[in-house]
Amino acid sequence: MLSYWERKLRLLGKREQQPQESSGQQVQLASLIEESIVDGPGLRFVLFTQGCPHRCPGCHNPQTHLRVGGTYFSTDEILALYDQHPACRGITLSGGEPFLHGGPLAQLAEAIHQRGGDVVTYTGYRLEKLRELARTDENILALLGETDLLIDGPFVLAKRCLEAPFVGSSNQRLIALSPLGNKLLADIPELPEGPRIERIMYPLV
Ligand code: SF4
Repeated sequence: MLSYWERKLRLLGKREQQPQESSGQQVQLASLIEESIVDGPGLRFVLFTQGCPHRCPGCHNPQTHLRVGGTYFSTDEILALYDQHPACRGITLSGGEPFLHGGPLAQLAEAIHQRGGDVVTYTGYRLEKLRELARTDENILALLGETDLLIDGPFVLAKRCLEAPFVGSSNQRLIALSPLGNKLLADIPELPEGPRIERIMYPLV
């Protein structure tokens, strides 16, 4: 039986690993979910990018690890799909490692902001490392600039956390990178007990 993703690709006339001749930059996706309530606050449009250098033991998305593979979508194609889901509050960039695709994702995130949506980005890097990389990589800098809420850090199996919303392990942090990020943070309930997930409000000190 075909998976949801395989059926979606068929409906869209897409084939795996084929950059398309269309406008907008190309994003290499492992898959996407058009409406999700488990990848950030509210109903969200979610992209899972292809390629991840972190290789966390116990990763739930090992099919995203290889840098080759996946399916190429232009940012315009993704926006056309996003526009079919007006109930979505915003977009979530997940993976894989979204910062491997910083250029096209920053362009996409900017368009989401222009539509009034917000941007949640997952990363296996810590913010401090991303800032270091951003000194010499303008695409990482651009995506950081378009992210409202960053959920950072690798998945650590020994710290796996099933209770807290939107993190996989308790070492991961919820970091608001904009005023919109603070609103997203406010909509994530804190657990009365159990592991404490670090929350960092904007502006960072
Ligand atoms: S960063 Fe995420 S996708 Fe990459 S290996 Fe770790 S858990 Fe998996």
